[in-house]
Amino acid sequence: MRVPALRMLALPLLLSSCAFLPPAPGENGTFMFGTRVLYILKDRREFGFCSAELVGCTVPLGSICVVQLDQEFFEKATRWQRVNLVAHELGHCLDLRKLGLSHGGFTDQGKRWGAYYRAPSEGFAEAYARAYIARCGLDLDSLGWMNAQGSCTPPHPREVTPELIETQKL
Ligand SMILES: [Zn+2]
Repeated sequence: MRVPALRMLALPLLLSSCAFLPPAPGENGTFMFGTRVLYILKDRREFGFCSAELVGCTVPLGSICVVQLDQEFFEKATRWQRVNLVAHELGHCLDLRKLGLSHGGFTDQGKRWGAYYRAPSEGFAEAYARAYIARCGLDLDSLGWMNAQGSCTPPHPREVTPELIETQKL
C-alpha cells in the first residue's frame, strides 16, 4: 500500500512541474526566469531539511523551488531584512535552476558580508539579494511575494558576479 500511495502523491507534482502553471490564487509564490518559486512562512524549528539556526531554507521539490522563511523573524524584521531574506533565498533558487549551482563564479568573495557568506553558494545568494536591492529597492512585489507582480525586473542571475559586487560596491 505504501508504494502506490507515494506514486499517487508524486504524480501531481510531476504534472504540475511540467505545466508551467502560474501560482494558484492566494498562493505566495512566483514564476520567474522560468523558475517556479513557492514562499512559505513557518516556524524555523519545522524547516525539516535545514538547521533551525537559519531563518531561511530553500529546497527543490520537483521543479518547484520551495523557500521556507521563519515566520517570527519575518514579522519582526525591518523592511530591508525582509527584502534581503526573500531575495537571498530567491538567489539560491536561481543558482540551482539557472546556473546549475555554479554560484555565478563566486569563491569566497561573500566574506565581505560576514564569515557565513564565505561559502560560494552563500556568497552568490547574498550578492543576488544586494544586487536586487540596488536595482529594485525594498520592493517585495517584484520578488513575486504574495503572487504580486512588481514594476521592477530583478537582476538575471547571470548578471550577478564577483565583478559586479566590486563595480557596484555592493
Ligand atoms: Zn543562504
